[in-house]
Amino acid sequence: MTITVDVREQVRQRANFACEFCGVTEIDTGGQLTIDHFQPSTKQGSDNLKNLVYCCIHCNQYKLNYWSTHANDPVLWNPRHEPHSKHFLELKDGTLHPLTPTGTFTLKRLRLNRSPLVAHRLQKRQHTEEMSLLTRYQNTIELIEKMHIQLSELIGEQQKLLKEQKRLLTLLFENWH
Ligand SMILES: [Zn+2]
Repeated sequence: MTITVDVREQVRQRANFACEFCGVTEIDTGGQLTIDHFQPSTKQGSDNLKNLVYCCIHCNQYKLNYWSTHANDPVLWNPRHEPHSKHFLELKDGTLHPLTPTGTFTLKRLRLNRSPLVAHRLQKRQHTEEMSLLTRYQNTIELIEKMHIQLSELIGEQQKLLKEQKRLLTLLFENWH
């Protein structure tokens, strides 16, 4: 069986154009990614959408046709069934730390701590931090602008008061004479 263009497109869009195992996107890699059969076709995996995962070439190559057939076989993380956070913790240095036996096995099998991927995570993290700093900076500028407006309003009020005071003093002075 072959995967139709329409199904391929559905898998791409569902995955938001990123590898469902490691997160690299089509933009990162400069091209479309591959379609992986979570349960390999060679091991009775179907072409059903439920069994298809959008996957970068590296994850696909490392995964190959792994499928746990025996009860004691380690189970590979299925990104379509469980969230990333259930099995992995991203550390500050950009590496993933496994939280479950499935996490440990998947990390090893798919080499999810391969150095370009760690560098990619760090870059993404840095970008997020820069964006949040930029937002904070923009908010501060807005606040300063508001304060300037309020300050010039206050100065205007003060000038009016001074004028009034001057007028009263002039009146007082004239009457005194
Ligand atoms: Zn990948």
